Amino acid sequence: MSKLQRLLVIEDEIAIRRLLRTILTPHGWAMVEAETGAAALDQLHQAMPELILLDLGLPDMDGLDLIPLLKRERSAPIIVLSSRDREQDKVLALDLGADDYVTKPFSEKELLARIRTALRHSIQQVGGRPHLQVGDLEIDLVMRQVRRSGERLHLSPREFDLLHLLVRHGGRILTHRQILEQVWGPAQATEVHYLRVYVRQLRQKIETDPNNPTLILTEPGIGYRFSEP
Ligand code: CA
Repeated sequence: MSKLQRLLVIEDEIAIRRLLRTILTPHGWAMVEAETGAAALDQLHQAMPELILLDLGLPDMDGLDLIPLLKRERSAPIIVLSSRDREQDKVLALDLGADDYVTKPFSEKELLARIRTALRHSIQQVGGRPHLQVGDLEIDLVMRQVRRSGERLHLSPREFDLLHLLVRHGGRILTHRQILEQVWGPAQATEVHYLRVYVRQLRQKIETDPNNPTLILTEPGIGYRFSEP
């Protein structure tokens, strides 16, 4: 299983976290867990999750109050997972910025379907398409899979994030700092050598001739640009 997507679960009940792990791990999700709102905010930058599952009844705060704080820090979709099934709670959560609301107890199939939908929407919201085709390269942003001439390439989560960022801004130059902030987080914004290593690895995997790249182009002294699809 090479597609490892990071998911932050904010939930104080251990049985639910265990259940989620059982459901999500076989589908390629690496789960980061937080039992409180404070722990979730702490972990957000380190974990860089693609998706957030949020319980509302947390020990230190109401999950509803956490939604805008999470949204301010990270654009990942938030799915509320709560036993509160009053309409007003759902409406409030969605108004505060949650992307979906699933009531407990939930079915495994429904949860997985809602996760796929939330990811698809978040990709479309930033102006992207769930599938991208660049020459013989095919990128499935929902399943986080990359194929070249139909053959599956195995990218690490960071490599995928880097490729996704470059492709999303295809044709435009991204500075080293912009890329580092988006893919590694603000704390690593000056570690240009990380970026060089990852670009080299990514080129080895996606370019026909890694020494003469035609997809990931170097802008000397500035950053990188993905050739216009
Ligand atoms: Ca709870």
